[in-house]
Order: sequence, then C-alpha cells, then structure tokens
Amino acid sequence: MTLLPRPPQSAAAGSPPTVTPRELAAMHIKQVIIEGFKSYKEQFALEEFSPRLNVVVGANGSGKSNFFHAVRFVLTDIHVQLRAEDRRSLLHEGAGHAVPRATVEVVFCNRDGRLPIDRDEVRLSRRVDLRGDSFSLNGKAVNREEVQSLLESAGLSRANPYYVVQQGRITQMTTMTDPQRLDLLKEIGRAREGEARLAPQPLLLPPL
Ligand code: ATP
Ligand code: MG
Repeated sequence: MTLLPRPPQSAAAGSPPTVTPRELAAMHIKQVIIEGFKSYKEQFALEEFSPRLNVVVGANGSGKSNFFHAVRFVLTDIHVQLRAEDRRSLLHEGAGHAVPRATVEVVFCNRDGRLPIDRDEVRLSRRVDLRGDSFSLNGKAVNREEVQSLLESAGLSRANPYYVVQQGRITQMTTMTDPQRLDLLKEIGRAREGEARLAPQPLLLPPL
C-alpha cells in the first residue's frame, strides 16, 4: 500500500498551484505510524501527508481499509468498550510469534495552534494489548476524557465524527429523504444541542 507521490510543486499550466504556507500550517494529519495492528505486523509509517488531498492506493487486501480503521481507532469512539476478543481481533495474527500489542500513532501538524497545545507537532497514540487499552499524548499517558476534550477543542468530536467519511456514506447521503438530510445537517452543525436547550421548559410560577 502506498501514498501516491505528490505532484511536483510547480506553477506550470495545468498543474496544481503550489501549497501555500498558510495551507502548510493548517492543522492536518502529517503522519500515521502503525505497528502490530491487524495486517500491519512490523512498524509501518505513511508520511508525509499533504495538507490537501492524499490518495492511498494498493491492491485488494493490501491494508487500505485497515489503515483507515487504525486512524479511526485513535480519533473516534469506535471500540470504546473493548472486550478481550475485540482486542485480540485488532492485534496482528499470522505465522510466527504472536504480536503482544498494537500501537497506532497519529501525528498532527499544529502550527496554527488549533489543538490547544503549545507545540507545532502533536502526537496522539493509542495502544491495545490483551489486557488493556491506553492513550498517550506527546509520549505522556492521558485518559480517554482528556483525548476527547483535546479533539473537541479543535472541532473534532470523537462521538460524532463527521470529519471521517466512510465508504458508502456519500451514497447513503444522496439517497436520503429531505427530512433525513435536514436531520443530518442539524447534527453536523450541532443545532440539535441548541434546539434541546431552546425547547419549551415548564413554567414554574412562584406560589401566590
Ligand atoms: P480492498 O481493496 O479489497 O478493500 P484493502 O486494501 O482495503 O482491500 P484490508 O481490508 O485493509 O484491504 O486488508 C485485508 C487484509 O487484512 C486481509 O488479508 C486480512 O486477512 C488482513 N487482516 C485483517 N485483520 C487481521 C489481523 N488481525 N491480523 C492479520 N491480518 C489481518
Ligand atoms: Mg478495503
């Protein structure tokens, strides 16, 4: 599985315009490092992602879906409660020694400071083994709530991850009814929470 090389950064006619310094500084995933997760036995690092569009290509079964699963494993709330058999299914299985743990690290470019951490690069990783599951942020252990609030402060909700659009989701959106689409837009725009707050409340009158 490979990341398609970036096209040359030239301003020649027909080629994409050069990535601007502003785009380069915008928060984006710079690198993903996977080890022991599903089909990735050895350490595997895809780098360095463009702040624009990236295309991952590979033959059937080469690990593209497993790669995106690994990213969702760190950034979203899939696998909140992992049972022993779930943990086992995430660990690489194959010939040879069993893999004791799986680690996925997502490296963000944070030059625009969107993640409230005073670093240009933020490394968030999640590790799972047969007994447990843990997160670390720039090498320091953190808990799930801290990860959640960090991502939410940058506008990435772990529970409601519309920034991850999975295979089939676009087709699903195109075939939705209008009310379903409106519901989806409300959810994405977090209008639901506002609606809930604005819902009529019982009026409590002071006793006469
Ligand atoms: P396609 O183009 O068909 O969608 P893909 O590139 O998305 O393929 P994946 O679904 O990511 O491929 O990878 C599938 C491979 O991952 C299978 O060969 C499967 O056996 C392997 N695999 C899945 N889980 C594990 C695991 N726990 N240990 C080892 N290999 C695994
Ligand atoms: Mg696939």
